[in-house]
Formats: sequence, structure tokens, C-alpha cells
Amino acid sequence: SIPLSFFAGIGSASREGILVKGSNFLEGLAETKTIVFDKTGTLTKGVFEVVAIHPKTLEAKELLHLVAHVERYSNHPIANSIRNAFPDENDSCDVSDITEIAGQGVEAMVNGHKVSVGNTKLMDMIGAKWNNCSKLKGTVIHVALDHIYQGHIVISDVLKPNSARAIAELKKNGIKQTVMLTGDSKDAAENVANELKIDNVYSELLPQDKVLKFEKILGNKDRKNDVVAFVGDGINDAPVLSRADIGIAMGVLGSDAAIEAADIVLMDDDPLKITTAIKISKKCIRIVR
Ligand code: ADP
Ligand code: MG
Repeated sequence: SIPLSFFAGIGSASREGILVKGSNFLEGLAETKTIVFDKTGTLTKGVFEVVAIHPKTLEAKELLHLVAHVERYSNHPIANSIRNAFPDENDSCDVSDITEIAGQGVEAMVNGHKVSVGNTKLMDMIGAKWNNCSKLKGTVIHVALDHIYQGHIVISDVLKPNSARAIAELKKNGIKQTVMLTGDSKDAAENVANELKIDNVYSELLPQDKVLKFEKILGNKDRKNDVVAFVGDGINDAPVLSRADIGIAMGVLGSDAAIEAADIVLMDDDPLKITTAIKISKKCIRIVR
């Protein structure tokens, strides 16, 4: 039978905007030793600003427009940010055949020409020769027109105001190891991990690589009962949310798939709520024992 204190715990969690799908997950939180985080939209705001434009032959504005056209129908935080920065200027471009390639980018036909927008993996896949720009701070979005490289834009996200504090607080509350998994580039990932003092960071991962990496972390537990939690926003990481001992979804009120995959749902997108949840879980355990 489920001890009464867990019902009280689930109640106090829900008053904090932390929805726990069962008392076993609250119990598991108290045994959590490793927390694995997604980056974009989880530790960072997922609101990107364009910080540089490097066209090869087109005008800067034309390059930006190509990106904006292709991103029009995507739900990715990158797409949402670009749409907000460049609201459709009502031009009569004909955009069709949109294909989103998870963890790589988007392709579409624009006025009869194929436009590809994404990372170096996407450029390599279509055989477009991209420029080396590894020293740039931010996320580099490359553009190709009919498989011919057209240059890149650099976009930059910011940390959530509470992310650093959340990582520090977790360390004070029994979390031994923090990890970040991201599809973003090594540089962008390491910038964030260093600023937040995250122990281990793995970058340039496709959605399926994130699952494999997570399974490796599960296989490296010190003790069988140690719990490994994953925190993500459901964009390109829902499979990891399902795979985790405890999957925690945040800022997902628009995404049914993430809410479905998660064991715990944070109603707002404040990473400090994870520590709140752990404190509640430990209080329950103390009452039971
Ligand atoms: P994260 O793990 O940081 O949440 P994703 O797996 O969602 O990242 O995406 C990984 C990378 O793939 C992004 O950093 C970007 O380079 C590229 N990418 C994904 N979706 C898009 C998109 N809609 N437009 C441009 N690039 C994208
Ligand atoms: Mg993500």
C-alpha cells in the first residue's frame, strides 16, 4: 500500500506546479543520483537572436529570408525565434515540400528551388561545402540553395535566469552527477556547460544518439537502486523522456507527446522546480522511515 505521506507529497508538489504521475516517481526522486538535462529550452530559454550573418554571394537580407521561409512551419525553438524576428513580410514566395530532419534542420522548396537550413550534418548529407566557423559563439545555422552552400547565420540563446542556481542547489541536495545531452555543436554546448558547472556534456547528438548515450549512463550506475532522471522539453528528446527512470518534462504545455512520455511534468519552465520536487520527495521518505 502507498504510505499516506506520499499522497500529501503529491499534493504539495502539485501546489508548486509539479505534476507527479505516481507515488513511485516521488519515491524515486529521493534516490536520484544523476540528472541528465537537455539544453535548448530546458537550461536555456530557447529564444534565439540573430547575432551575425555571413552570406557568400547573396545579400544578407536574402540569406535571412531563405531561412525564414523554410522555418515557417517548424515547431523547433530555432524556428519559433526566427519567425518572431522576421514576421512574414507577406511576400508571395511559394514554399512547399517542407521536410524537418530531427536534430539537423529543415528543407523546403522555395519558388522551385531547394533550400536547406541546418547544421553541418545536414550540409554534409546534401554535399554542400560549408565554411569552418568553429570559433563563433552561438549556434551556427548553415544555408544551401539547390545543394550549393550560401553561407551561415549565427544565432544565440541565453541561459534561463535560474539554471546556474538550480545546478548548484541540486548538488547540495544529493545529486552526485549532472549531465547535458544536446544536438547542438560542441562549442555551443561547452559554453553552456562551463557556465552552469555541469559535470559531463555530450554534443552533436541526433535524437537516437541521445537515447543511446542515456542508456550508457543508465548502465554506469554505482548501485542498482540509484535513479537517473532526465529533464527535457520534448522537442527531439521525447524518446529519452520515456527511457529515463524518471522523465521530467518542462515548458511543454503545448506538447502532448512530451506530457505523455514524462513521469513528472513541470507546469512552468523554471529549473529550480526540480530541486523543489527533490526536497518534497525527501521529506516524504523521512516521514515514512
Ligand atoms: P537540442 O538538443 O539542443 O535541443 P535539437 O536536437 O533539437 O537540439 O537540434 C540539434 C541541432 O539541429 C540544432 O542545434 C540545429 O543546429 C539543428 N536544427 C534542428 N532543428 C532545426 C531547425 N528547425 N532549423 C535549423 N536548425 C535546426
Ligand atoms: Mg531540445
